[in-house]
Amino acid sequence: TFEALLIRAKDNPKASLAELSLSDLPDLPVLVRVDYSSLNYKDGLSVTGKGRIARRFPMVPGIDIAGTVVESASEAFKPGDRVIANGNGMSETEWGAYSAYQRVRPEWLMPQPEGLTQKQAMAIGTAGYTAALCVNQLLAWGSLSTEDGKVLVTGAAGGVGSYAVALLASLGFSVTASTGRPETHDYLRQLGASDFIDRRELSEAGKPLQAERWTGAVDSVGSTTLANVLAQTVYGGAVTACGLAGGPDLPATVMPHILRSVALIGVDSVMAPKKRREAAWRLLQTQLSSEQIALATEGEVALKDLPQAAEDILAGKVRGRIVVKVS
Ligand code: NAP
Repeated sequence: TFEALLIRAKDNPKASLAELSLSDLPDLPVLVRVDYSSLNYKDGLSVTGKGRIARRFPMVPGIDIAGTVVESASEAFKPGDRVIANGNGMSETEWGAYSAYQRVRPEWLMPQPEGLTQKQAMAIGTAGYTAALCVNQLLAWGSLSTEDGKVLVTGAAGGVGSYAVALLASLGFSVTASTGRPETHDYLRQLGASDFIDRRELSEAGKPLQAERWTGAVDSVGSTTLANVLAQTVYGGAVTACGLAGGPDLPATVMPHILRSVALIGVDSVMAPKKRREAAWRLLQTQLSSEQIALATEGEVALKDLPQAAEDILAGKVRGRIVVKVS
């Protein structure tokens, strides 16, 4: 038997430790030993039971895997291969990462990115990969210039925010970080931010069109914050929306879009097609320094510590990312 975190039933949605055996795992083609995982906001929601993430029970939560293939009925992978997986319904309808062993579909797996250790790959995890999807979308939109203007990152001291700051700064952009935690300014400056605004400046309802401040933005907060960011984006600029840490609503008007050609680009990491995933990991491999990854890694926890860490991330107490040592 081996250790896992299990959400037992819909009316008992808090995850707790359980002993599983291989015969409990889903009947899928690739058996992976899960070496490391990470703790994302979404994992906080599922482990505490505060968000309705799981749609099948019992459920093993955890949306990020760095592991080693043990058995494979797929030609694409063989025992001993180091692999990663992000999203793909894990924690929702598919059993996920918080189990010493897991069976997965080969389509979910990518070879562990070259140049990154398993721990680094999970310090990046869904947060860094989502930040990279956002940055690639902004680059493709074509409105960003390293020559003039500033790019904004909201929820900057969180996981997605930290990696968005690091990537944009490494690419040469001037990055303004919006955070509610002034004590993280030194950390964010080391990651590459050059200016700061207090997140309260963006969370109060504002006018539909405001002074043009940002050539682009990565927003993981949503709600009034995103509405204000759109209202402050320059003519022709673009904003990627990937999160709802401040709320799922969007109390905005069409004015920035119809009068300033501002684009709102939605970013989903869970079902992102393979090409986009690979491009995102390439960006992370080429642009992140090991110093940036180390800075963004707040610590390492074991499965038994996850219920408390999950409360902490929802309470906004985690800086960057926590790595989970699974087996
Ligand atoms: P995280 O580490 O908890 O970061 C979220 C950050 O948002 C916090 O650190 C905080 O930043 C800020 N924040 C929290 N509560 C807030 C509030 N009430 N008002 C304004 N700001 C607030 O979470 P994460 O793992 O990076 O994920 C961030 C968001 O993106 C989550 O909503 C998550 O579900 C979403 N996400 C979506 C995808 C996707 O596929 N679309 C992928 C990954 C994540 P400061 O302390 O700096 O203010």
